[in-house]
Amino acid sequence: MYNPKSNNADEFISHEEILASLKYADENKNNEELIDTILKKAKEKKGLSHREALILLDCTIENKNKEIFQLAEQIKKDFYGNRIVLFAPLYLSNYCVNGCVYCPYHRENTNIRRKKLSQDEIRKEVTALQDLGHKRLAIEAGEDPLNNPIEYILESIKTIYNTKHKNGSIRRVNVNIAATTIENYKKLKEAGIGTYILFQETYHKENYENLHPKGPKHNYAYHTEAMDRAMEAGIDDVGLGVLYGLSLYRYELVGILMHSEHLEAKFGVGPHTISVPRIKKADDINPDVFDNGIDDETFLKIIAVLRIAVPYTGMIISTRENKSVRERALHLGITQISGGSKTSVGGYWEEEKPENNSSQFDVSDTRSLDEVTNWLLKMGYIPSFCTACYRSGRVGADFMEVCKKEEIHNFCGPNAILTLKEYLEDYASTDTKKIGNEIIEKELNLIKNKKLKDKLIENLNHIKEGSRDYKI
Ligand code: SF4
Ligand code: SF4
Repeated sequence: MYNPKSNNADEFISHEEILASLKYADENKNNEELIDTILKKAKEKKGLSHREALILLDCTIENKNKEIFQLAEQIKKDFYGNRIVLFAPLYLSNYCVNGCVYCPYHRENTNIRRKKLSQDEIRKEVTALQDLGHKRLAIEAGEDPLNNPIEYILESIKTIYNTKHKNGSIRRVNVNIAATTIENYKKLKEAGIGTYILFQETYHKENYENLHPKGPKHNYAYHTEAMDRAMEAGIDDVGLGVLYGLSLYRYELVGILMHSEHLEAKFGVGPHTISVPRIKKADDINPDVFDNGIDDETFLKIIAVLRIAVPYTGMIISTRENKSVRERALHLGITQISGGSKTSVGGYWEEEKPENNSSQFDVSDTRSLDEVTNWLLKMGYIPSFCTACYRSGRVGADFMEVCKKEEIHNFCGPNAILTLKEYLEDYASTDTKKIGNEIIEKELNLIKNKKLKDKLIENLNHIKEGSRDYKI
């Protein structure tokens, strides 16, 4: 029985409700009157239900699709302005006891080099990341109670926060580790993590069990109920995601929106972020064996529909996607991207040799962080290294409150300017610095609030003189 408030995964992600939603969408495919009603509701910018979102996803009427894409762009601008937050993944260890058939870290893969970073190596990685200009990391580790126990993760977080090189510092560590206990989530909260990220991979239970034949991850309910435990443990921000290509995308869209509705119904606050990874080529994994792959057009439509359905939720795209897909996705709703990423363990300070490959997947966007920053600036975005909300306590429900009032861009814009200035002073190439400073000037001229503008100018001058870490 479908119940968004239930504690039971089978009830808040009800297979029957997903099937009924798919049937409802089939019966109403291209029903113009219904599409117009949904679009009218969507324009109120308060989100859509999973069924309404699916109707928009399935729509093939050209002029309605144009409207859907335009609305997604508008919502993106209204809520988040023109800033794009940058982050990098940091792989701590690829030891894993699970058997996920789509991931090269699965326990039976003997081709891959297994590696776990020591604390000294983490310091080197973090120093290399700081020297690129990163302020925000997402740490990744396989599930392995012997090699990667929670104590190792906690010690690593401490090392990351304590590593300071020149003007560099990591100000927000998001964590992507396996589903765990409430006690362990409490420990992560105490360690000062930002968002706890856990991809569902697929909401289709039967497929999930087949794709995860071995190891603790096989337990669908334990995995699906992980965000409930994390939030019960006091973690304010959680990040959802499915791996597109594992199951049918229509099923997944309904599933992830039901998950979001569940968190909102039970905790009064939905997910902080939704990621949209697609299956990629990797060692011992052939994406051709997954026959649910989605083309770029469908992928971009999913992003647009998610943007409309959950306007308050940040959306993340990684370097799994190439430059042109990322460019279009940014317009349609993405708010955070990774840049200059390495998906191998130790990849930032040590050159990965092909015979020593420890990567989780092939990167499609191989540009450096400076190239990505330059590209964003040339498209009119403000690359942002901001971590202000987390550090000012604007998290969880408090963050959503600001976001729902469409006020978050009042913080995002000024903080993007301040953190971009730090980047330009410390790490940018000559060309990026030139364009960046011009954009900052332009943005300052658009600010009407005199007090805010004066404060920003004052802080920008401090940054120019060598001080760091200003935030609004
Ligand atoms: Fe391990 Fe995660 Fe890869 Fe599965 S997806 S094999 S849990 S690292
Ligand atoms: Fe993110 Fe808050 Fe900074 Fe905006 S102000 S970029 S929401 S941390």
